[in-house]
Amino acid sequence: MKRIISILLLLAVALCGCRRIDGDEGKDTQPVLNVEYVTDDGEGSEEDDTLIICLDAGHGFGDVGCSSSYLGCYEYEVTIDVVKRIEKAFLDMDVEVILTHDGETYPDEAELIKKLKKHKIEYKPEGIVDNEIYSAYERAMYEEILVREKGIDFFLSIHVNSVEHAEYVDGYELYYCNSNPHRTDLQLFGEKLNGILDNEVKTVGYDYEDAYIVTKYTKIPSVLLEIGYATNPEDARKMNDDAWKDSLADDLAQEIMNYINK
Ligand SMILES: [Zn+2]
Repeated sequence: MKRIISILLLLAVALCGCRRIDGDEGKDTQPVLNVEYVTDDGEGSEEDDTLIICLDAGHGFGDVGCSSSYLGCYEYEVTIDVVKRIEKAFLDMDVEVILTHDGETYPDEAELIKKLKKHKIEYKPEGIVDNEIYSAYERAMYEEILVREKGIDFFLSIHVNSVEHAEYVDGYELYYCNSNPHRTDLQLFGEKLNGILDNEVKTVGYDYEDAYIVTKYTKIPSVLLEIGYATNPEDARKMNDDAWKDSLADDLAQEIMNYINK
């Protein structure tokens, strides 16, 4: 019942948009987690020589994200679709790709908690707003475990944006945390994407308190990319276009490779 109520609530706020939901993910959940930044020196890594990319499809599992009549579906459906296309784009590259979830299943919660305990990471799901397994909080925890156990090299979370009463607002937005030691490079990464992708990419560094939860708990390069506005007719049309999504996936994979091989 709780999940059904949550779904109804989320449906009710869906048009309030990704920004609202992601803002909740980023800000309201901040006090519940007390971990120190981990190092990215590969300590405990099982595969130090293999470059590992972690892709995160925003929302899912009862959290539908944003929507619009132009998009005709929910954000969570677009994000997993795009993430799987990016995974495919990496196939011919010398890199391992890990997804935080595949849209159908997610890491077992008991196993997640067990691993968090092993790494002395505090888990307080009762304190978070979007307390639907598998929330942004759980995905951030899973990212943290992967960094410590496998030494992932780059983290990308895909989302869809929306804004009420401003159909003209469009384009990409790339977010990172100003506390991330790679922030200068991440800003450059955003600027390079701005020269490659088919619309403007605004790159924004948030201070720790306001940063999206999936971008701020580790020292690895972590970004959240809003691939367009569900509330903009042209962006929504593109997000329903397979060729556009494949092209975006190819460009993102290539630029991530450029970033980690620089
Ligand atoms: Zn979102």
